Amino acid sequence: MCPAAAARTTIRRTRRPTAVGLVLVTAAIIGTLVHQSASSSAPSFGDILGGDRGGTTSEVDGAVTEVDGALPDGVTVFDDEHPAVANLDPDLLEALREAATDAGDDGIELYVNSGWRSPDYQNQLLREAVAEYGSEEEAARWVATVDTSPHVPGNAVDIGSFDATAWLSAHGAEYGLCQVYVNESWHYELRPAAIDRGCPPLYEDPTQDPRMQQ
Ligand SMILES: [Zn+2]
Repeated sequence: MCPAAAARTTIRRTRRPTAVGLVLVTAAIIGTLVHQSASSSAPSFGDILGGDRGGTTSEVDGAVTEVDGALPDGVTVFDDEHPAVANLDPDLLEALREAATDAGDDGIELYVNSGWRSPDYQNQLLREAVAEYGSEEEAARWVATVDTSPHVPGNAVDIGSFDATAWLSAHGAEYGLCQVYVNESWHYELRPAAIDRGCPPLYEDPTQDPRMQQ
C-alpha cells in the first residue's frame, strides 16, 4: 500500500462516524424545520376564522396591509386612523360608537377585529379558507366572496372580546346592532328597525343568507 492509499483509508475510516453524525444532525434539523413550518404556515381554524370571527386579523401576510383593512390588536371603534374602521358605513360606525360609549360605562370595551375590507383582502381570506377547508362549499360557511361579503362595502364589523360580544348580544338591538349568523357571535351589522322591533331571526350560517346566493 502506497502512503497515499493509506492516507485515504485513514481519512475514510475517521470520516465515517462524522458523516453518520452529520446525517443524524441534518435529519434532526430537517425534522425541526418541517415541524415548525407545519405549525406556522398551515392556517389553524382560528387563523382562518380571523377573517370573520372575533379573532385578530393582525397576521398580515402576502400583500394585504392596513390599507386593505387588516388590523393590529386592540383597535377600538373610535380608532378611525385605521381604514378598516374609517371606511365603515357612517351609520354603522355611529351606532357602534354610541354602543361602545355605553358599554364603556359598564367597564367593557368594544374592539374591532375586522371591519371594512378591500376586495384584495376579502379574496385572500377566501383563498385561505378554501385551502383550509378543502372545498369552496365548506369555506363558504365562513368566508364570503368579494361580491357577497358585507365587509367589503363597510356594512359589517367583527367585534371582540368575548365580553364585548356578550354585551352586544344583550344590548346591541337598542342601537340597531344585530348579530346575523348563529355561527358568528362576533359579526354585527346595522338593522335600524331593531331599535323598535328587536333584531330579526338569525341565519344558522352565511350559506343560509339569501344575500350570499349570488
Ligand atoms: Zn364578519
